[in-house]
Order: sequence, then C-alpha cells, then structure tokens
Amino acid sequence: MSRAFNWIKELPISRKLTLLMMTTAAVALFLGGVAFVANDLFVKRSGMLSQQATLAEIVGLNSIAALDFDDARSARETLTALEADPEVMAAAIYSGQDLLFAQYNSPGFPDTDIPASPGIAGQRFTLDYLETFQPVLVRDQKLGTVFIRTSTNDWYVSLQRNFLTGFAVMAIVGLISLALSHVLQRNFSAPVLELAGLARMVSRTRSYSLRARKYSEDELGTLVDDFNAMLEEIEQRDMKLSEYQQGLEREVQSRTADLQQLTERLEHQAHHDSLTGLPNRKRYKECCHDTLAERSRDGGQFAVMFLDLERFKLVNDSLGHHVGDRLLNIVARRLRNCVREGDMVARQGGDEFTVLLRSVSGYEDATSVAERILAALAPCIELEAHTLNITGSIGISLYPYNGTTVDELLRHADVAMYAAKSKGGNGFLFFSDEMRTEGAELLSLEAELHRAVDEQQFEAYYQPIISAHDGRVRSFEALVRWRHPTSGMVSPGRFIPLAEETGLITEIDEWVFGEACRQVVIWRKKHLHDVSMTVNLSSRQFSRPDLSQRLEAILNETGATSDAIELEITEGTLMHQTEQVQSNLMKLKALGFRLAVDDFGTGYSSLSYLKRFPLDRLKVDQSFVQDLPHDQDNAAITQAVIAMARSLRLMVTVEGIETEEQLAFLQDLGCDAFQGFLYSQPVSADEAERYLYSRVAQSSAAAASAPLHQQQ
Ligand code: C2E
Ligand code: MG
Ligand code: MG
Repeated sequence: MSRAFNWIKELPISRKLTLLMMTTAAVALFLGGVAFVANDLFVKRSGMLSQQATLAEIVGLNSIAALDFDDARSARETLTALEADPEVMAAAIYSGQDLLFAQYNSPGFPDTDIPASPGIAGQRFTLDYLETFQPVLVRDQKLGTVFIRTSTNDWYVSLQRNFLTGFAVMAIVGLISLALSHVLQRNFSAPVLELAGLARMVSRTRSYSLRARKYSEDELGTLVDDFNAMLEEIEQRDMKLSEYQQGLEREVQSRTADLQQLTERLEHQAHHDSLTGLPNRKRYKECCHDTLAERSRDGGQFAVMFLDLERFKLVNDSLGHHVGDRLLNIVARRLRNCVREGDMVARQGGDEFTVLLRSVSGYEDATSVAERILAALAPCIELEAHTLNITGSIGISLYPYNGTTVDELLRHADVAMYAAKSKGGNGFLFFSDEMRTEGAELLSLEAELHRAVDEQQFEAYYQPIISAHDGRVRSFEALVRWRHPTSGMVSPGRFIPLAEETGLITEIDEWVFGEACRQVVIWRKKHLHDVSMTVNLSSRQFSRPDLSQRLEAILNETGATSDAIELEITEGTLMHQTEQVQSNLMKLKALGFRLAVDDFGTGYSSLSYLKRFPLDRLKVDQSFVQDLPHDQDNAAITQAVIAMARSLRLMVTVEGIETEEQLAFLQDLGCDAFQGFLYSQPVSADEAERYLYSRVAQSSAAAASAPLHQQQ
C-alpha cells in the first residue's frame, strides 16, 4: 500500500500541495454532494409519496357517492380531474368487489397498464413510477379501492440537475483550489523551494557567503533568517577553518622540509662516519660491490686496502679521546689526498681505514698508492704540545687475483694488514695464500686468550736481576707465561700485543702483579730479606684512574709491601704526558713503589719526560747490548745512556746480556744491575728460589762478576 504511494514522495512539494488541496476539495465536495443529493432525493421521494397518498385520499372521498350509487360516470369524471396533474400516468377506481369500476389514462401516458384488480393496499416506488392502492372506507366498511400511478420523471430530472449542479460546483471548487494552491505555492512552497535550492547550491559550491531571500515575516521568514544566520556562522567558521588550514599547511610544509633535511642527514649519517666525514663501512662495501660488478664486466682490476694505525690506542688511552679524534681527522685528510678522484677512502671504525682503488692496471698501481699513504702518514703531527709519529700497516688484495667476492677481498686485505703489522708495521703487504692460515691462527688465538684469562692458564716466571756492585740477586723480573692446554708454552711476544689490543692485558698484569707479591712475601719470610720483584705494567693500565687503588688492594691482600716491588713502564707510556699518566705515576710513587723505564732507547726521541716523572731506574733495551762491544754505535749509545742516567741520578739496569764479553764491557761503564740469559733465563718460582739460594751462598763481592753457570 505504502509502496503504491511512493510516487507521491517523489513529487515536488508544489505538486504535493496542489494534489493535497485538490484531493481535499474533491473529497469534501464529493461527500457534500452525495449527502445533498441523497437528502434531496429522500425529501423529494417522501413528498411524492405523501402527495400521492393525499391525492388518493381526495379521489377516494370524491368517489364515495359514485361507488355508493354505482355511478361509473361520476367516478370517471372524478378521475378525469386528475388531468390537472401532468405527472399522473393513470388512475382507477375499483368496486367493493374489486372489479374495475372506472379508469383514467393520462394523454401523456396512454399505454400505461391499469391492473384488472387492486393490489395490496399501500404505496410502491419503482424506478419508473410511484403507485398507490388506497381503500375507500366508509364507517370502516370498504366501498372500493382507488389506484393512482404517477411518473417519477420529475424525480429523475431533479436528480440529474442535482448531479450537474454538483459537477459544476466541483469544477468551480477545483479551479478555485488550483488557484489557491498557486497562491499557496507562491507564498509557501516557492520560498521553501528557493531555500532548498540555495541549500543545494551552498553544499555543492561551498559558497557560504550566499543568502536566502526573505518573502514574509511568518514562520517561513524566521526559517530564512535562521538559515541565513546558520550560513553566516558557517561562513565565519569556514574562514577560521581555512585560516587554520593554511597555517596547518604551512606547518606541514615546513615539517616536510625539516623531515626531508632529516632524512638526508640520516641518509648521510647512515653512509658516513660522523667523526671524519668519510664514507663508512656500509658505504664502502656498497661501492666495492658496484666496482666489482663494473670490473667483472670490463675485465679490469681493482684494489681493496686495509690500513690500521700503530700505537693509536696508546694515544687514545694516554692523551685522551679528544686528541685521538683530532689525530684520526688529520689522518683521514692525509689519506684523502693520496687517492684519485673516484677512488674511495673510508673509515671502518677505531683506527682502521679502508681504501678502494676502483681501477688499477696491476700490483704496481696499488704499490704506488700504498707507498704514497705511508709517506703521507710519516710527517710528525703536533697536537696539544705533543709530537706524534703515526705509522700504519696496510694490507692489499687485488681483484680478481686475491678474491672474486667483496667479502673475500676485504677479508684477505685484513689478513694482509695483520701480516704487515706482525712484520713490525709501517709497511704494506699484498695478500698471499700463506697468510690465510696466519690470519685464521690469529683469530683463534684471540678466542683462546679469552679462555686463558677465564681459566687462568698463565704462570709467572722469574728472571733474576743481578747487582753490579756485589753480584747478589737484587730482584727478579716477573714475566708471564701462557701454558696453552694443547700448544704448550706460548711466548709473550706472541700473545702480549694481542692482549694489549683486546684489553685483556689489564687482567693479565694484575694477575702477574698478585703472583709476584705472593712470591716475594714467601721469599722474605724465608729470610731472603733483601730480594724484591720487578713487575711489568702495560701502558693501558695508566689510563685507569683507579690503578693505584687496585695495586694497593692487591698489596693488602697478599701482605706484600711496596718497597719490595719495582714497576716497569714502557717508554711509550711516558711519552704521552697526560694528566692521567702523571697522576697515576705520582700516586704509585706515593704508595712507595719504585719506577723503572723499560726497553729504554727504543721509543721516542724526546727525553724531557725523564725529568718530569718520579723515576728511579732506566732499563737499557737489549737491542743495544747485541754485538757489544763490537758494534760501535750501540757501544756509544749505551755509554751515553748510562752517563745521562747517572747525571739524572737514575739507576741503570742493562738487559739482554748473553755473553761474558758484553758483561765485561758493561761493567766498565758503571751500570747498577745486569739481566740476561748469561745469568739465567726466566724460570719457575721453584727454580728461581733454588737460584736465589745458590747466589746467597756466594757472599763475596768478587763473585758478583761471575755468571752462575761458571759457579755451578
Ligand atoms: P721485557 O719486560 O723487556 O722483558 C725482558 C724480556 O727479555 C723477556 O722476554 C726475557 O725473557 C727476555 N730476555 C731476558 N734476557 C735475555 C737475553 O739475554 N737475551 C734475550 N734474547 N732475551 C732476554 P719475554 O719473557 O719473552 O717477554 C717479552 C716481553 O713481554 C717483556 O719484555 C714485556 O715487555 C712483555 N711481558 C712479559 N711479561 C709481561 C707481563 O706480565 N705484563 C706485561 N705488561 N708485559 C709482559
Ligand atoms: Mg720488563
Ligand atoms: Mg725490557
């Protein structure tokens, strides 16, 4: 049902209004018309009935005499009087015996049938006529019956007229309602439609500055006012919103620009080393891959170089990171100047740099670049009043001879670099197949060294130091030994540099220091009162602020006293006169330790540190002792060192004495102590103790010059 009226919903509002008005008018008129016609017909019908009944009454009264006297003629005359009523169609009078007594047919209806005998008394209304059978009674005695039939024509004519009038009225009312609906539309639906059209346009074009026209002051006018107020509100909000949006867009633009910059910075950071600005490991590797692809296409060669600086850790640890950083920047600059445009210098991390020579014609090209790099590193670097000599070791691998993948080439250059380093540094080496095993060994050695520290696979050996004055054992130098579970004894020369590089040296040193303390306590308890110990301390130790506290704690733990210990420090440590080194030396001195400079003469040329630090002894390096007294240079240096030490009131120990000849020469120079295989190799604690007893037995000063093996 509701679906049947859906079309109404889709009609425009004006049509709906017209339809509503027309329908209302039509329904009202129809119902009114029907009521009017029905009423009219009913009234007319009742009038006709009563009129005919009255007529029949009159005719009956007028025909009483005729019936009584059986005067048919008079009865007929009575009926003929009905001619005056044109609607009467026919009439008749029946005798008391219900026989037709007189009859009348209107000239207008000559063919009207007159029943032969009277019907049932009463009235009958048919579509064509109205008829009445009225008994004629005199003193309740029936004299006869009157019959009258009248036409209903008039009634129909009236009905028709009524209908026509109704239709006419309906048409007029329809026209009036149509006109009214137009008026209504103009006053009501037109403004509403205009309002709706405006709302549509606003929503389509978003022109909130449009306003609706006001036609009246009624509710529609209020609606228009409200609508316009709403538009104004929206317009203001829209303006604010667009201002806000513009601000937001500006913000987004600037943020996008910031983000872009940040992305670029991050991109740069992801591929560059923040300290030196050089490409980093990642970028270097990417370039290596590109270069490999290019060379494999054109059948060319390229070289990969690994450069590691020597003694950089020492600079970093002793002079501080800020000096280390500046040094790395200087090195980076020097390296960049050594390669062609298009080649690459990158920083791998720490003091490791890599160089990529994108196209070389063979080993000679790479050789000349490596030589250029070493030459560029050679000039001294002055940093914060320190003169630093920086050298590096370079490992080179050449595509396609030393590897066909980037990883392989890099690994091999790294191995070659280690090989160059183990040859004393400040040089370069191309990768060769023999290095493969050396590199692998070094790696496994590092892992094993970690295990050795964890499992304490170390032993302390002791080498006697003999007094030049009375030949007695002045002290023992504690030297670490690594008893490897499968390889046996590993020499310090092999693992100490690795331990220094990895930092494990600090733990090893502390362990040796502890062992030496324990041992000296044992010996002193055995009434070997004047024996003392000499312990090596790596330069790494001196970057630790708590060094003196740690050594003091070990003294307390073992019961040793500092006067029984001499600490050996390498020349390199002293060269870097940082506050940390200085303060550590002062603290150690204050604790009562004696301080000796080990391997004197091998390090740096500056001797100014000898005055600055609280030193007790110099240990002339064994390299000067070799070939004495025949090597005139070494003899001159040794003499000069001893003379200088004396004038600085420092004691002198000469190490590495292997022959009587060397000893004799050195004795004449006036040293304080001797150390070397001529007396004893470094030996275990038990052997050292036996040696000690044997030397104690030699009490005479004359025996001082006699080596042990001669005495035994
Ligand atoms: P160093 O402190 O100068 O120790 C002396 C080295 O010279 C010892 O080598 C010793 O065996 C060797 N030597 C002594 N007399 C002679 C000789 O007549 N001829 C020859 N050719 N050599 C002689 P070693 O024990 O192999 O130690 C080498 C270096 O390892 C030491 O040199 C020292 O720098 C380092 N080292 C050893 N033990 C330790 C330690 O516990 N801590 C630290 N930091 N370094 C240690
Ligand atoms: Mg030493
Ligand atoms: Mg030495």
